[in-house]
Amino acid sequence: MFFLFYLGFELQAQTDEKVLETIYKTALTNGQSYQWLDHLSNKIGGRLSGSENAELAVQYTKSELEEMGLDKVWLQPVMVPKWVRGLQEYAYIESVPGEQMAVNICALGGSVATPGNGLKAAVVEVKTFEELAALGTEAIQGKIVFFNRPMQPDLIQTFDSYGGCVDQRYAGAMEAAKYKAAGVIVRSVNLRLDDYPHTGSMSYGDMPVEQRIPSAAISTNDAEKLSALLADNPNLQFYFKQSCQQLPDVQSYNVIGEITGSEFPNEFILVGGHLDSWDLGDGAHDDGAGVVQSMEVLRLMKLSGIKPKRSLRVVLFMNEENGLRGATKYAEEAKRNGENHIFALESDAGGFTPRGFSFQAGDNNYAQILSWQSLFKPYLIHYFEKGGSGADVGPLKSDTNVLAGLRPDSQRYFDHHHAAIDTFEHVNKRELELGAATMTALVYLFDKYGIVKEERLKPVMD
Ligand SMILES: [Zn+2]
Repeated sequence: MFFLFYLGFELQAQTDEKVLETIYKTALTNGQSYQWLDHLSNKIGGRLSGSENAELAVQYTKSELEEMGLDKVWLQPVMVPKWVRGLQEYAYIESVPGEQMAVNICALGGSVATPGNGLKAAVVEVKTFEELAALGTEAIQGKIVFFNRPMQPDLIQTFDSYGGCVDQRYAGAMEAAKYKAAGVIVRSVNLRLDDYPHTGSMSYGDMPVEQRIPSAAISTNDAEKLSALLADNPNLQFYFKQSCQQLPDVQSYNVIGEITGSEFPNEFILVGGHLDSWDLGDGAHDDGAGVVQSMEVLRLMKLSGIKPKRSLRVVLFMNEENGLRGATKYAEEAKRNGENHIFALESDAGGFTPRGFSFQAGDNNYAQILSWQSLFKPYLIHYFEKGGSGADVGPLKSDTNVLAGLRPDSQRYFDHHHAAIDTFEHVNKRELELGAATMTALVYLFDKYGIVKEERLKPVMD
């Protein structure tokens, strides 16, 4: 009796180990994610919301999901903003009148254009909004504010360094306009020194249109150059020209595929990434990798012979980068339809070697998750921490469910993020496939064991 019990226990433990073995083996020997990413990156390219490429990506991924023989595949309509970059931006530093030194810039997403002939003005360099406020209108009026706070290099979690800088990009123009600045140049959010400007979203808040000032990112090398030249000559002039514009919203879609659960069809497990990307590169890391890994989760479940008990959905969200409209729409519809999302997992941190996950979970669920940790050891997956999940799954958080984000190695991610070198050749096939397998393994465990009840519903630990 005891022996049988023991044997049963062994069998069950071995079963999970065996299943994970099958998942990883299938991912590494019969994967599809890399081929999908090749198509998304090289045949379609950058997929800015509202663009023709974004629409092509919707049609392509929908037809690939249909090929997989899922129970349901559909498009969820959502209106998205359409911002266009226009002609390539141009900028130079003029230390001595008539001597122009070209520098690399790009408009930030959502920015207004410069006047048709460009904008030329003196520059005020600051590192913080406090410094800006201390200088005040007299020092800033009519000038270009240059935000030059670098990413903190000694933080091991590069997303923390990103979080420490991104306010300059997102709110720099809004802040500088309070003091009547003419424009804003922001140091690219990039840990290394190179020549690529990195775009990303910025906002004017509710500022009247006529008060909005143009805002651009400058490469880290050129930020260093500008700062050094300013130290020598505080009166130098900076010129930039950009012709970007915000057009009316257009119709787009989230792409959704589902394997309906065999026992608990009304409990949903979601895997996803965002289908849109910035336009300078082809969006291979951000977030083509997350898109194809999420698609691959459903494919690997099928190929590994796992029939989910709960309904398993892949959601390819539209417009994460400059509006989050797709995620907002999905969560609204899920709420309206009373769909109980017990677990949602996002991959939106690059296609690099997976290290683990970060979780938004209550204590009891987190304890269950930690009990699975040893299953991942053979695959060198060790990072299990509480923390954020992902922008697209965030709106699905409830008092009782669990959200997670795949956490790949992030040391090189910000070399590529939102820049012209976020391209397919910088994604490694094996690393991408290991990420897909790691996601599938976690989805398998949540499908098998479900979530556990939290003793206290509030406050939710995250
Ligand atoms: Zn992203």
